[in-house]
Amino acid sequence: MSGTTGVALVTGANRGIGAAVARRLQTDGYLVVGATRSGQAPDCQDCVQIDVASAESITTAIGEVEAKHGPIAVLVANAGITRDTLLMRMSDSDIDDVLSTNLGGSIRLARAGLRGMLKAREGRIIFISSVVAMMGSAGQVNYAASKAGLVGAARSLAREVGSRGITVNVVAPGFVDTDMTADLDESRKSEILGAVPLGRYATPAEVAGVVSFLASTDGAYVTGAIIPVDGGLGMGH
Ligand code: NDP
Repeated sequence: MSGTTGVALVTGANRGIGAAVARRLQTDGYLVVGATRSGQAPDCQDCVQIDVASAESITTAIGEVEAKHGPIAVLVANAGITRDTLLMRMSDSDIDDVLSTNLGGSIRLARAGLRGMLKAREGRIIFISSVVAMMGSAGQVNYAASKAGLVGAARSLAREVGSRGITVNVVAPGFVDTDMTADLDESRKSEILGAVPLGRYATPAEVAGVVSFLASTDGAYVTGAIIPVDGGLGMGH
């Protein structure tokens, strides 16, 4: 992979980390397709409508992109949701929605993009997980399970497709300044910052930089890895 050509598809590219990843991969030279629920992504060269909770939507979207641009070289499964509450209060839909969007959506997306990568005998699949996958987080049983599931999925897939030149990795951000964390109350924010050795949130661009590395030629021998981008919160885990 040259790192300067090819198609990159990023889910949830309309805002937050996904938008930053889309901008960075575009700067790196990829033709970036933003896959969003609305079908619009301001910073992408092309857009496709996708609801990652729907298997049919994923298959249709990947088919459209491959028909138009050819095989996808870099697939970034970034779209995700939270439905935080203590487990005793968590509804079935809180559990099902988070697992089917964050975990099921990422696995199905990888499966859909894999056919083209296998033919091309190269590709990069990057799952956006979270530090809570490894550390746990009260009030996030559903979310942490979905993000931990991505680790097992990535490592299993890395073993399945490594011989075909395809790498599969996990990026595990800590707290990043996006809409997802904007809702946290001030006391929770200062509690978090007190636990982060670097004493601040990440910027979306800092997460995008690590995705860029994994997609680049320099990342060619990295597979099955979890790369934390968490200011030291998880101390490498
Ligand atoms: P945001 O809430 O800012 O953005 C989430 C994105 O996911 C939006 O583009 C949203 O689309 C999209 N999305 C949600 N559900 C679906 C769906 N069913 N189909 C397609 N797209 C969907 O989140 P962040 O940018 O902060 O988070 C991005 C990823 O990073 C997530 O997976 C999150 O779990 C993870 N992460 C974030 C951290 C943080 O501190 N912010 C920390 C660790 C991990 P729409 O605009 O249509 O809602």
